[in-house]
Amino acid sequence: MEIEGLSEKEVFNQILETLKQGDMSYDSGQILGSMCTKPLALSIKLYQRFFDRNLGDPGLWRGTWKLEREAIRILGSLLHNPRAKGYIVTGGTEANLMAMRIARNSHFNGHPEIIVPMSAHASFDKAADLMRLNIVKIPLTSEYMVDVEAVEEAISKNTVAIVGIAGTTSLGVVDPIDKLSKIALDRGIYLHVDAAFGGLVLPFLAKMDYDVPQFDFELEGVQSITADPHKMGLGPIPSGGILFRNKEILKKRHYEIPYLAGGNIRQATIVGTRSGYAAIATWAIFKCLGQKGYMQIVEKCMKLTNLLKDFLKPIEGIRVINDPPQMNILGFTSEYHLRAIEKRLRKRGWALGAFPELLRVVVMPHIKEDHIKKFANDLEEIMQEIRMSSKKRKV
Ligand SMILES: *Cc1c(COP(=O)(O)O)cnc(C)c1O
Repeated sequence: MEIEGLSEKEVFNQILETLKQGDMSYDSGQILGSMCTKPLALSIKLYQRFFDRNLGDPGLWRGTWKLEREAIRILGSLLHNPRAKGYIVTGGTEANLMAMRIARNSHFNGHPEIIVPMSAHASFDKAADLMRLNIVKIPLTSEYMVDVEAVEEAISKNTVAIVGIAGTTSLGVVDPIDKLSKIALDRGIYLHVDAAFGGLVLPFLAKMDYDVPQFDFELEGVQSITADPHKMGLGPIPSGGILFRNKEILKKRHYEIPYLAGGNIRQATIVGTRSGYAAIATWAIFKCLGQKGYMQIVEKCMKLTNLLKDFLKPIEGIRVINDPPQMNILGFTSEYHLRAIEKRLRKRGWALGAFPELLRVVVMPHIKEDHIKKFANDLEEIMQEIRMSSKKRKV
């Protein structure tokens, strides 16, 4: 490693040079498979002033702590529980890890087991690995929702948590959380809802009379919810949200950190030092956009998702999977070689999400109508090429 004292200008230029070669930009409209988006511009100003706040030692930053409490209260109200307790964390992964830790430590029986849908995010595999949980994966119905009967059958004396998803990573599908809630209550099992993506989409769709099933604290069995500002919340990257139904759930599940400069605290987050800026920016963005602002953004994303669907449906060889889309995520597959289609799309600069059996577009706020049209045109051309070379997949 060469250690030279360079001027800030030179350092800046070197950074730009390197990033130019390797980084994509949201503004290009080619990032079609990310659940993150360009944070609201306001976060730049906030970062300049508040980048040094550390909520790992909240006694030193009581003002920041207060804004975090307020951000959680706003998020809780959206999810039908203004009294929920929680934190602004590093993302959906940390939020899910926290929920699984609390669930396991609250109902410890023999060899702890968690029941998750097959569509669950990789963070539950991480939780199982880190905490030595047995993870039971439940198949999906033809509608890509968890099979509730199979969940019920999978429950054993070792079950410490059931997980339902409100907005799956691959298709934005909402599991029948109402049924899971009933099972959880009947059997006395902890139910966690992973609404990392849907948590800041569904409440606004519901207010606009879209058909949104119940998924949040309205359902009594739901003990905790993950809902990430850095996805459809337009929050800073990273910022995640974890909410627990009440403070009793967190009781005796904290770590004592007595030596902190700001005084003894009890901490339930996985990480210690954590961004106070993320909490401030989350609060500020909630306040700035307000319910109306979010409703407009979500509605626009839904319109474009449906437009994309209309463009893709007539393309020969392409089949849209989730029609109608429940959220601003659209999955499609093909009778032709899917990996060949993916490869050609990537060659044309499109970065979309590739799952074993489908490709999917997440229509985030940085995607404009022109991008959708251009993408659909490219896909149409690619399908023509593929049909001509007739690389029909053998089934
Ligand atoms: C994005 C996502 C996560 C993980 O969030 P990170 O912020 O990337 O850690 C978890 N669950 C679901 C359903 C998600 O969509």
